Amino acid sequence: MRPNDLTPLFASAGSLTGIGPRMLLLLKKALRLPPGVTEPRVLDLLWHLPTGVIDRRAEPTVAVAVPGTIATLKVRVLKHKPPPRGNDKAPYKITCEDDTGRLELVFFRAERKFIERQLPEGEERYVSGRVEKYNDILQMAHPDYIVPPDRRGELPMLEPVYGLTAGLSGKVLVKAARQAVERVPEMDEWQDAAWLKSRGWPGFNNAVRRLHQPDDGTDVSTGGAPWQRLAFDELLAGQLALGLVRQSQKSQRGRSIVGDGRIRARIADALPFSLTNSQRTAIGEISDDMAAPNRMLRLLQGDVGSGKTVVALMCMAIAVEAGAQAALMAPTEVLARQHMETIAPFAETARLRLGLLTGREKGKTRREVLERLAAGDIDILIGTHALFQPDVIYRDLAVAVIDEQHRFGVHQRLALQSKGGAAQGGVGSGADVLAMTATPIPRTLLMTHYGDLDVSRLTEKPPGRKPITTKAVPLDTMERLIERIRAQLTEGAQVYWVCPLIESSEKSELAAAEERHAHLKQTFGDAVGLLHGAMSGAEKDATMAAFSENRLKILVSTTVIEVGVNVPNANIMVIEHAERFGIAQLHQLRGRVGRGTRESFCMLLYKAPLGETARQRLEMMERTEDGFLIAEKDLELRGGGEVLGARQSGLPEFRVADVPGFETLLAVARDDAQMVLQADPHLEGARGRKLRHLLYLFECDEAVRLFRAA
Ligand code: ADP
Ligand code: MG
Repeated sequence: MRPNDLTPLFASAGSLTGIGPRMLLLLKKALRLPPGVTEPRVLDLLWHLPTGVIDRRAEPTVAVAVPGTIATLKVRVLKHKPPPRGNDKAPYKITCEDDTGRLELVFFRAERKFIERQLPEGEERYVSGRVEKYNDILQMAHPDYIVPPDRRGELPMLEPVYGLTAGLSGKVLVKAARQAVERVPEMDEWQDAAWLKSRGWPGFNNAVRRLHQPDDGTDVSTGGAPWQRLAFDELLAGQLALGLVRQSQKSQRGRSIVGDGRIRARIADALPFSLTNSQRTAIGEISDDMAAPNRMLRLLQGDVGSGKTVVALMCMAIAVEAGAQAALMAPTEVLARQHMETIAPFAETARLRLGLLTGREKGKTRREVLERLAAGDIDILIGTHALFQPDVIYRDLAVAVIDEQHRFGVHQRLALQSKGGAAQGGVGSGADVLAMTATPIPRTLLMTHYGDLDVSRLTEKPPGRKPITTKAVPLDTMERLIERIRAQLTEGAQVYWVCPLIESSEKSELAAAEERHAHLKQTFGDAVGLLHGAMSGAEKDATMAAFSENRLKILVSTTVIEVGVNVPNANIMVIEHAERFGIAQLHQLRGRVGRGTRESFCMLLYKAPLGETARQRLEMMERTEDGFLIAEKDLELRGGGEVLGARQSGLPEFRVADVPGFETLLAVARDDAQMVLQADPHLEGARGRKLRHLLYLFECDEAVRLFRAA
């Protein structure tokens, strides 16, 4: 159970003074909420750290105030000069002075009543805001603060600046954050005292308070002590969480699955190629894992086209050789069906019985699949999320393969895994898991997000692949590109044309794709097809089939084709607004071509002028096809911490740990977590209990669930 003293932090932000339903909606826009959280909570405000500070401590006299800076001035209000009647555009001016000179306050579209009340003639006020010189007169337009001398204490001399959204003012956030900070209970220190001391870091409460109510301009900085402390907290929480998951994974009684090799041999005979060394190594590692008595949790990384499917098939074959079942889960229906088609011919030779289960198998068909599955008449079940619905019961699931695993949440993975070993007396034994991803994940990221998960990498491409010529060209050369495509089409080429990610202010992604589709149709007529996420499954299949059978020559699509699809004859990839894609995503998209014998091209259409990072990204794409190199570069471009290809690769994001020196902190956090868990695996000791607070504060649910179960 979550410690009671944290309950106020998990209440809706609506429970704070000044946050009504409308503000709540705006907060939802402005804050980065963790997946699954639909309403901002007090905790989310706490982690919405300022991006900077406005320093109002300068209190010059009018004579020495520096134009262009933020200043706080004590002045007498002399005279109101409202705009002439009927002229709303003219500003409302108020002349003020101190002993050294005059200051003019300026309000556009002023609210008269408010101004008259705030600034009565003849009285003294503190005003704080940016001063400018205008026609030799010192002016302050729309002061941020106006207070009478006896309330000077209310001026935030160091005012945190927050990421906002239209309609949400900084003042509202400052006030809300202040209340959020007050709700943080006093907690026992969970960090090692000597470590804190050596870094000069404050306690947790002090760190949180100083970020939202800074004592000093340097407090709000990712390199400053308060922020670094919290970053370390988050990293430690993450590493502990991974450690706990890992530990439970290892300790859970798995089973030893050993096959006799007969099915694998039949598959190998049927393959029209021989396996690459990388594939052989991976299969070896997997079969060792499966044979070991504890549960397998292995990540198979390999670029698009590196041949992960065969590895998965061999892995599943081992389970079947051992008399058990296997499941292969894909993130989309298109992919699930494609796996089915790829695997079917081998399955037939190897006498494997396949089943398919997606959202589209309904009624009688679905019932039949479920019956065969429960009876053990299906060896390998291929499908989507449908594979782990409650009524899907396996006779004996030994291994679950999860393709494009980053598309699934941890919970979905666990749900499938927990289907394992149903007939073996049920609960507990669970299935081995092979997770596959085409997103090459750099080592640092692996460590942050997967801990010491076992990893196999497919580093070589199957032989005979032709290089893909990649070229970045400005969008306004599109007509020339279309001419070249026309020439290519006569030679039998096929083209993917991916439409841009859309910035929110613009029309929808779908509309953009539809528009391009209509445009290309004018030139190429019925040879142009359209694929997008809003189509029904059957429509998508029909379109994919038409492209795959070469009846369609150009397939315009939104990013739905990103994962998996395999049409070897397609040799041209056009990506519009390539500057809006992350490099990892570009790489994935490009991987759709270069699969056949034809010379392949990837055209990255960008809107000029390019920003520096975008330019480097596109250049990198032109230079190499090595996914691992690209991933490292990606990380570098995002900067040490932007740990997060995360957003793109679907990994959980950090809330505060994106700081300079991140890698060092991570290494320390990792060691610390290991040490803690070795001595106190269930966090029951003195420090362990305190660390539980930390896990809750950073919502490491998964881990929390595990120690709760313990
Ligand atoms: P991905 O890793 O993207 O899932 P696939 O498993 O779809 O890649 O494989 C891509 C293509 O490469 C398929 O057509 C597959 O048959 C082929 N392939 C896989 N392994 C080899 C190999 N060792 N030699 C030649 N072709 C291979
Ligand atoms: Mg694949």
